[in-house]
Amino acid sequence: MKATQFTAGCFMITLLISSCNTKNSDKKIYDDKAIADKSTTAEWLAYGRTHSEERFSPLKDIDVSNVADLSVDWFMDLPNDVGLVSTPLVVDGILYFVGTMNIVRAVDAVTGKLIWEYDPKVGDAIKGKRQSGWVHNRGLSFSKDKIFGATWDGRLFALDYKSGKEKWIVTTFDPSRALYITGAPKAFKDKVLIGNGGTEEGPTRGWVTAYDAETGKEAWKFYIVPGNPADGFENEAMEMAAKTWTGEWWKHGGGGNAWHGFTYDPELDVLYIGTGNGAPWNRKVRSPEGGDNLFLCSIVALNPDNGKYLWHYQTTPGESWDYNSNMDIVLTDLMIDGKKTKAILHAPKNGFFYVINRETGKLISAEPFVKTTWASHIDMTTGKPVETPNARYENGKVYITPSYAGAHSWHAMSFNPETGLTYIPVIHDALYYDDSGIDLKNFRAKPFEGGVGVNISQGEIPASTEASLLAWDPVKQKAAWSIQQDGVWGPGTLSTAGNLLFQGSSTGIFSAYDAATGKILWSFDCGLGISAPPITYKINGRQYISLLVGWGGGWAGLGHAALGWAYGKHTRRLITFSLDGKADMPKLPPKYFAKPLYDSTFKIDESKANHGAALYGACGSCHSPDMKAQGMAPDLRESPIPLSFQAFKSIVSGGERTNRGMPAFPNLSDQELEALTHYIRQRAHETKDE
Ligand code: CA
Repeated sequence: MKATQFTAGCFMITLLISSCNTKNSDKKIYDDKAIADKSTTAEWLAYGRTHSEERFSPLKDIDVSNVADLSVDWFMDLPNDVGLVSTPLVVDGILYFVGTMNIVRAVDAVTGKLIWEYDPKVGDAIKGKRQSGWVHNRGLSFSKDKIFGATWDGRLFALDYKSGKEKWIVTTFDPSRALYITGAPKAFKDKVLIGNGGTEEGPTRGWVTAYDAETGKEAWKFYIVPGNPADGFENEAMEMAAKTWTGEWWKHGGGGNAWHGFTYDPELDVLYIGTGNGAPWNRKVRSPEGGDNLFLCSIVALNPDNGKYLWHYQTTPGESWDYNSNMDIVLTDLMIDGKKTKAILHAPKNGFFYVINRETGKLISAEPFVKTTWASHIDMTTGKPVETPNARYENGKVYITPSYAGAHSWHAMSFNPETGLTYIPVIHDALYYDDSGIDLKNFRAKPFEGGVGVNISQGEIPASTEASLLAWDPVKQKAAWSIQQDGVWGPGTLSTAGNLLFQGSSTGIFSAYDAATGKILWSFDCGLGISAPPITYKINGRQYISLLVGWGGGWAGLGHAALGWAYGKHTRRLITFSLDGKADMPKLPPKYFAKPLYDSTFKIDESKANHGAALYGACGSCHSPDMKAQGMAPDLRESPIPLSFQAFKSIVSGGERTNRGMPAFPNLSDQELEALTHYIRQRAHETKDE
């Protein structure tokens, strides 16, 4: 989807309670060895629990025999939050998570009491500026004595993990650029890595930067695609990559932005980054004579000390569908042909499940985990996909699955070494791709206006988006079981040695499954759609399962209107469960569907409304493309604000609500703002009886 968003910056720390009731280690050193330790049970030290990113816990106090007794142990209301998509961390008895507008909170992991809060003041950073971005963020990183986080407007910060005091904060890109950060940083070897998103927002050349964890000083930088050869190449890898591009790609930036998918392998001392799609999507525009366009849609292995290129595996050469490879990079050892093999598991948007040898970068196997019409299979000799005729819409409109929404996107998959299965939240979607009528030669994306160089549509085939939970055997490269689900996507998964698999859902139901069979063993109605993955930890002999409940994130505003999640109606929460939980958690209000306002005195001018419809595009990613808001932002049809031109103007172009996540659009003229109000009234009238 066309992602248009928001941002922020300054900082305030509120020290509410300085004590924590679980002092279980005075001198514990949380180095890479500790973060890699898979036997840890008291903590959740990295985004995917350990450096492996498996999201598997050896805990089995809660298992298939007793999971039915799971109940709420404690909960925390988050009334000012909207989208909650983050994976919490647990360190030394404290649970850390990032909420809306990149606010970081530390809470006692046993009682749920707030210890401190850090607000990077994203609203101040974006105020009055034109922005693309999102109010949500997927997580934090931790190493030694610091928590690392990043902001929508491109800042990276380090906090003392005990006090929440800011140790340093750096700007990773000029905040006036059409870029944003929604991902978790990645701490490794006394450094911390961050990338950014924005490939659809305008011309961009993706990169990642590693900063010194102690000082915030830049340590190294790696560009994902080559720049203009006339300027000289930064390194040999860029020189090599440039041979796979044609035309004047640098004028389009090239893309490849790394907004998710960083994994550090302490065993091999290698850093892997997942890279994004092309800018623009259509290769005919950015590299007209073809080419693989390295390092788009790849896993790139780097030397963690200096960022030097080691090897790459490209999942989608010559990317033309927004098939990024920014998805989870999971490290594990698999028995393949009787031999223990150090593997990477990777299920990117393009619909193929890849097993890659992480010592060599060689492809071990790849099979489709969904229906894939763009490629029939992966040729094991070349390691490349065998594309189907017209997959690149070279002969006109073509129906392609998976779509840009991805067969699998940012919702975390997990791998359980005991069942040998990977648990993937799968998105089934197909769309038409068509570039006929586009002036490919002169096409230029513009900052903040974006442009992908291809038209996508649902055409005459009705919306077919569906979600499923897939248990995939990476050795056999086939499904063990699969469950069809409600909604267009499901959130990330967690599996445990209790033979359990946990996953929330867009419908608000949090469930535990038998990890081997997929049988539902327990479910709990959280009262609001879930977008975040659960975690588990054990303190004072009790195993906890913790989950952020807060409908939001990319795509949450599309195709979910029937769920009835409304902005400001359903309180966001952090809920923690245990077998002995006795918390009395009030139920949230029932589903809510907006009641469009009807103002008989407002005379809708058809041509102004049409103009407003054309301007509305950027609003749709939060307020929904059809204006039936789905919980991430107010439903404009029932809002009284657009009925007052001055009130509307002060928010939309004046930025009065930037601190609530509504970006300013200072470029909009009064005439354009008025056109938007006519379109809003038109939609309100059209849908008032629906
Ligand atoms: Ca993309």
